[in-house]
Amino acid sequence: MAVNIAAYNQILAELQPQGVTLVAVSKTKPVEDIQALYDLGQRDFGENYVQELTEKQPQLPADIRWHFIGHLQSNKVKYIAPYVFMIHGVDSAKLLKEIDKQAAKLGRVIPVLLQVFIAREETKFGLDAAELEAILTGDETAGLRNIRIEGLMGMASFTDNTNNIREEFRSLKALHSRWSGHRTHNIELKTLSFGMSSDYAIAIGEGSNLVRIGSLLFGARG
Ligand SMILES: *Cc1c(COP(=O)(O)O)cnc(C)c1O
Repeated sequence: MAVNIAAYNQILAELQPQGVTLVAVSKTKPVEDIQALYDLGQRDFGENYVQELTEKQPQLPADIRWHFIGHLQSNKVKYIAPYVFMIHGVDSAKLLKEIDKQAAKLGRVIPVLLQVFIAREETKFGLDAAELEAILTGDETAGLRNIRIEGLMGMASFTDNTNNIREEFRSLKALHSRWSGHRTHNIELKTLSFGMSSDYAIAIGEGSNLVRIGSLLFGARG
């Protein structure tokens, strides 16, 4: 078992006074490790792969709040829709519509975060400012009854340049500030999520209220 309890306590001590939520990212890690952190009181866990989450979820306590943080394909929404707590990383109107459709079948509302592209790298996913505006103000979104857009998320470039990371976080924070007053029946951007193991301290300083931390808690992934 490879859970780093000292790191967990240290991270909580930094986050809790600021009211920042910790999502423990458990992708590729065994259910025993998740259970160990659960036993310490952790309830929010993040997974990236539908098949992996589908296998783990029934083996673990029912009150875990599962955050899907990976790149979700539309045809796989149905597998996690019954129990997922929040879907991060929504980056298209098509995916949003499919989540709404599956949630409607189940008679539930699924909270989502929209993913904004903030990195200079080409490889990361996400909406640009115009695409974000189109989703937030579009008639199509207004017609969806079974999703609630609760915030924005983003991932900074993979770099040691903290100034670069800080600038990318600030660009997301600025977009969040611009849209946080835009409230409708299915939009209220309460969550602003950026920050992972390598940059969560910067993230808290720049206003993130939900960080996703994996390797610091569970060890490096193979
Ligand atoms: C894997 C992952 C994380 C956690 O990364 P660490 O560097 O292990 O903390 C956070 N967010 C997303 C979207 C991820 O895919």
